[in-house]
Amino acid sequence: MNEKTLVRYYDAEKNRFFNGVLCGRDGNWHVEYRNDGPPETDLFLSPGWIDMHAHIFDGFGLFGTEADAVGWKTGTCLLVDAGTVGEYTLHGFTKYVVPTIETNIRLFLCISPIGVIFHHDYNAMQYLDADRCAACVAENPGLISGVKVRMGSETIRHEGLEPLRLASLAARKGGVPMMVHVGGNPPYLKDMEPYFEKGDIITHVFNGRGGDVWNPDGTPSDALQKLIDRGVWLDVGHGSSSFDFDVFERAVRHPLPRFLMGTDLHQSSVKKLVRNMAVLLSKLYGCGVSLEDILYGVTTGPATALGLTDWCRLSTVQNATLFRIVDHTETYEDCQGNSRTFHKAFSTEAVILNGEYRKTAAVL
Ligand SMILES: [Zn+2]
Repeated sequence: MNEKTLVRYYDAEKNRFFNGVLCGRDGNWHVEYRNDGPPETDLFLSPGWIDMHAHIFDGFGLFGTEADAVGWKTGTCLLVDAGTVGEYTLHGFTKYVVPTIETNIRLFLCISPIGVIFHHDYNAMQYLDADRCAACVAENPGLISGVKVRMGSETIRHEGLEPLRLASLAARKGGVPMMVHVGGNPPYLKDMEPYFEKGDIITHVFNGRGGDVWNPDGTPSDALQKLIDRGVWLDVGHGSSSFDFDVFERAVRHPLPRFLMGTDLHQSSVKKLVRNMAVLLSKLYGCGVSLEDILYGVTTGPATALGLTDWCRLSTVQNATLFRIVDHTETYEDCQGNSRTFHKAFSTEAVILNGEYRKTAAVL
């Protein structure tokens, strides 16, 4: 591949769009600035999309799905596995699954050492060990970027806050952020809030299951406001049970920090409701989120949360996503039986994956 292509590019540092030219050949791509006038093309280029929440332990349990299908083939250049893999299953994942994946990956290691196979991760609490989890994080730099724990009535029974306490301890010892799944109550966010630190992530934040993340008018609850003030990232984490159009639309009517666009793609949500990153972005765009905020949530935001300082650089492009916003009418469903009809959709065209130009699968 060797070409010069006119693009409307998203400069993540400036959070603005410019007209430019994608120049180069495989292994050596860069974007040249042309002007900051009106769009000269409908082909957008952004730093490579990052999905902060996916499940890519293919063939394992209820969740694991095929990484490249939800990765580069549908426009995402880096997938973060959100806790499908634990300390005891990491070796199998790296030995048998990683060699089948071309998309860039990072893991948030599950505090339960078997990872997530089904819904009650914490059946065997005696196996959860913060020191061993932290040691596993330390032994795998460049692969493990955080610790994951699921805290909702759908996963927690008699264990209370103990999995969260251990995950928080492991994350601090390992020097990495913690990602916390929130869902049904109990547990309550007001009791979980003290365990969060700056740079941690709260995922499924727009779910319609729990009642204590947002006030009825869509403003953040006191506990969520404390997390926002502390610098905790909010992640969408749509999945098959964790996104509610009503909750989302009420929330984004109020000032909020820009959030992360994790899909929570897994065996079920890849078949319906989410399907791929472009569909999630189409839903959020349809709800009125600006294109700048959407691209921040799949590029600069997650890159910052993962400590990837070079990810969004355009002087040399290692990972980028090329896409269009096309006319497309579709009625989308959320996880609570609500639906919305939108008339524009994200459609990916190609990625540059680790310096290599690749056409993506044509899906809408
Ligand atoms: Zn998930």
